[in-house]
Amino acid sequence: MLNKPIYLSLSQQSGFEQEYVQKALETNWITSGGPNVDDFENVLENYLKEQSFVTALNSGTSAIHLALILLGVETGDEVICQSLTFSASANPVLYQGAIPVFVDSEPDTWNICPEQLEIAIKDRIEKGKKPKAIITVHLYGNPYKVDEIHAIANKYNIPIIEDSAEALGSSYKGKKCGTFGIFGILSFNGNKIITTSSGGALITNSYDLKEKAIFYATQSKDEAIHYQHSEIGYNYRMSNICAGVGLGQIKVLEKNVFARRENHFFYKEVFKDILNVEVFEVLNEDYYSNYWLNTILIEPNKEKKIDKERLRLAFKNQNIETRPLWKPMHLQPIFEKYPYYGNQIAQDLFEKGLCLPSGSNLTIEDKNRIKEVIKIFFN
Ligand SMILES: *Cc1c(COP(=O)(O)O)cnc(C)c1O
Repeated sequence: MLNKPIYLSLSQQSGFEQEYVQKALETNWITSGGPNVDDFENVLENYLKEQSFVTALNSGTSAIHLALILLGVETGDEVICQSLTFSASANPVLYQGAIPVFVDSEPDTWNICPEQLEIAIKDRIEKGKKPKAIITVHLYGNPYKVDEIHAIANKYNIPIIEDSAEALGSSYKGKKCGTFGIFGILSFNGNKIITTSSGGALITNSYDLKEKAIFYATQSKDEAIHYQHSEIGYNYRMSNICAGVGLGQIKVLEKNVFARRENHFFYKEVFKDILNVEVFEVLNEDYYSNYWLNTILIEPNKEKKIDKERLRLAFKNQNIETRPLWKPMHLQPIFEKYPYYGNQIAQDLFEKGLCLPSGSNLTIEDKNRIKEVIKIFFN
């Protein structure tokens, strides 16, 4: 018989979700938008601070799409995007008929490389088109080099959309991820650190932008008694039922961050004497990671039959889920025809990297099983 599965990242209920969902049902707020949505936005705004205005939406992808629309990105415009990320960071660029321009990672944070970013910006300007926006990512919950990246963006006056889908609970120099750009986005998809089943949020620094985001997210209804529209509208608002789940979930956010950071220290300990493996760790105290997913790099060794795929299979034999890192966007069939600036960093990380089980509800028994696989594999 197969062992009980251990997954990469499962959600953890607080026990309060039902109460909020029940209230929505009892009061017949089975709607898109509603009191739970307003409350969920308020709780997030208080959590993020920095005078954030939050619009709750039906996904993180919708949030990125709305940010591009609010920045006026149109057909033929160029948008810079970190290459090493999940495809949802880049797809909305195509929804707008715009052109993604991919930039490599740097080895310290695995996120967008400041040097390559500036090279890309200069070259695009030289070629006649200044990028309309930059999509940065705090990959796996690990903050990117915020000061350096934002200094470059400011120098060329290009707005940043901060994809913080994986980084709720992370911070840089004490400021929460998601609050550094003109727009930040969050995801509450089922695998993220808190979930609303499916959901996302757009973070902005002004109430006007929030109002405008709600306008587009609710079919762009002009002010009129009859339904009148002078702009393209979207059905992107969060449902009041999902927001109820979110209100329950936010109660365990800090607990989940703690649990995932504990997972990180567990992996540090397990791999500390294994020379072929490097556990990703943030650079210094400026960076505070929620360690949404714990990741390792495996230096292949042919003689010893060590590589990331063999390790993945060893885990799989024990019914333990692991996964390669995101395959860089510039290597994806759908995106490979677009410009790319960089070297081999993202590709190298992809070739050597593995994401390990990092759920907020990993038990001691789970950890012992994981430890056992690692012990046997590397001996
Ligand atoms: C999950 C994720 C998204 C998209 O969020 P959805 O809510 O699933 O649409 C965007 N970017 C990154 C980096 C993600 O991990």
